[in-house]
Amino acid sequence: MKPLRIAIIGYGKIARDQHVPAIQANARFALAATVSSKPEPHPGIPSFGTHREMLAAMHDLDAVAICTPPSVRYDIGRDCLLAGKHVLLEKPPAATLGEVEELARVAAARDATLFTTWHAQHAAAVADAARLLAGQKIAAMKIAWREDVRKWHPGQQWIWEPGGFGVFDPGINALSIASHIVPGALFVRDAELLYPENRQTPIAARLNLASPIASGAIEVAFDWRHQAGEMWRIDIRTADGLELRLSEGGAKLTLDGDPVDASGSGEYQSIYNHFVDLIDERRSHVDIEPLRLAAEAFLLGRRTIVEPFVDRVQDV
Ligand code: NAP
Repeated sequence: MKPLRIAIIGYGKIARDQHVPAIQANARFALAATVSSKPEPHPGIPSFGTHREMLAAMHDLDAVAICTPPSVRYDIGRDCLLAGKHVLLEKPPAATLGEVEELARVAAARDATLFTTWHAQHAAAVADAARLLAGQKIAAMKIAWREDVRKWHPGQQWIWEPGGFGVFDPGINALSIASHIVPGALFVRDAELLYPENRQTPIAARLNLASPIASGAIEVAFDWRHQAGEMWRIDIRTADGLELRLSEGGAKLTLDGDPVDASGSGEYQSIYNHFVDLIDERRSHVDIEPLRLAAEAFLLGRRTIVEPFVDRVQDV
């Protein structure tokens, strides 16, 4: 079978670290082009400065993976869908819920596949956690997502601009796991967002979530000021007394303290396998739940101003 010719639009950290290797390891895809604001060639394939230049020059593309910051995804995704390309969106899929809904409408009208990926949902142990929680009620749940922004986003300025999500850029990964494994609706009850006085997006956040299937608190803490390694952990106690802990961003799971062998294949390999299935079946997969929860936090959040954030690389 002829491989699907795919281009990566937004050739930054995640494109290079994960998308290129996952595409190269999947026989159903052939990497055909890259697009970046400052074009940086990938060996053996053309690179373009804008997606419009690429669409005008390459008529034989089948699909694109959009790995830009979220604020520019809508225009790019719309142009690509209108050109008949299948579209994979990195997380978060766009800056607003309305943009994602409109992209889904365009994809349906063009009979093209739209896939809003949430890579953390594909972490090795997440499907096992969902299976163990199916049909359960939640007695208590704690999400702790703490990392060092200087380590994980060195020099990135877009994360601090409106539409850049701030600490919700990693935090939305936790929300994507929670909305995937909790067998019932989730919504935000209240939130506190901590903004450095010189930035437009929060550096930390505390949320309280609620669910019709939860009798106790669902507490969420995101923090980018954490310097002692990373903590990407979700603890859940069910009404039946089961204790689940997902750690390492969903890669590891324990049940009542005992390790559970993870059955998943790994995040980006699983994402591209699913993209192939969706294209073959001419289906879309559009999941807005994590973005809805983040939007609710921004709607309801009390704003607390904290000390300025100084980025070692850019500001000193
Ligand atoms: P990044 O390193 O800043 O890369 C973004 C790239 O997009 C840059 O090369 C940027 O070029 C390019 N770009 C910006 N606007 C563009 C446009 N209109 N057309 C074409 N290219 C454009 O950011 P990243 O860390 O890879 O993150 C990108 C997305 O992936 C984010 O939504 C993030 O949440 C997600 N993600 C990141 C990670 C991670 O570990 N970094 C993990 C999972 C998911 P310029 O720099 O020249 O503007």
